[in-house]
Order: sequence, then structure tokens, then C-alpha cells
Amino acid sequence: MADCRDTIVQLYAYLDQMLDDDLRRDIDQHLGDCSDCQGRVEFEFSLKARIRSRAAAEPIPADLEQRLRDCLDLDLGDE
Ligand SMILES: [Zn+2]
Repeated sequence: MADCRDTIVQLYAYLDQMLDDDLRRDIDQHLGDCSDCQGRVEFEFSLKARIRSRAAAEPIPADLEQRLRDCLDLDLGDE
């Protein structure tokens, strides 16, 4: 059975659904019993959702895009 420490350690993997079934079940079980961790998961989950929707809503600024392109060009070399 997972405890608070396990849950925090695995939080991002849990949110990204990268955990194997046993571990995810352990953490689900702990979340059922522990309002502290429940709140933590909800907070991180809404934060991730907000970041994702903001990233989707706002296009990359032109100067940043140009800088990224420059970086990519440098990495590719002169072919
Ligand atoms: Zn907990």
C-alpha cells in the first residue's frame, strides 16, 4: 500500500498515466483514504490542464520561433 511519500514521488508519473497497474492501484487506494494527497493530485492536475490549454491557446511568439529555428539550424549544421 502506498503512503504519502510514495504518492508524492509518483505524482507526475501518475498524472501522466505512466505507472503500471499495481502501482497506480496502490496510489488510487491511498488517494481514497488521504485528503492531503487527494488535494495535491487535484492541484497538480488542474495546473497541468491550465498549462496545456494556455499552450494550445497562445501561438509561439514569432521571435521565439525564429530563435528556435536558428537553434535547429545550428544543430543540423551546413548541409
Ligand atoms: Zn497521503
